[in-house]
Amino acid sequence: MFIFSSKKLNKYYLYKMNSIKVKNCSACRTPFNCGDTPEGSKCWCKNFPPIFTPTEVVDCLCFSCFTAACSTKIDKYVATLSSETATNNKAKDLPKTTHLIEGIDYYLENGNYVFKAWFHLKRGHCCTNGCRHCPYGFKKI
Ligand SMILES: [Zn+2]
Repeated sequence: MFIFSSKKLNKYYLYKMNSIKVKNCSACRTPFNCGDTPEGSKCWCKNFPPIFTPTEVVDCLCFSCFTAACSTKIDKYVATLSSETATNNKAKDLPKTTHLIEGIDYYLENGNYVFKAWFHLKRGHCCTNGCRHCPYGFKKI
């Protein structure tokens, strides 16, 4: 077993974390950064819902193409839900994230945030506010 002095340990972790790679998006060819930053922040993709398996092309997509791919996949999933099955959806069991992503959780319309079905599904129940994309079938009377 190796014992590191705290200075050495620090250096070791910085080395381990400084793993940003520049990749080229397999869809649009734009170069993008991939990996955790030396400051210790996780890669941007860690904020996204873990809805892809590692065998899919996800690893090679830039932020905007990944957002689009994610959104398409989510839309397909949302389409399979009914107001009855929505309370038992898969999204509510995913690890909770505090980070909301434009195009996944919400979109902007005239400067207003409009929450998408995915955002409501993660909560797991209806908030009875009559949201536009309510997946639970709530209708305001
Ligand atoms: Zn791209």
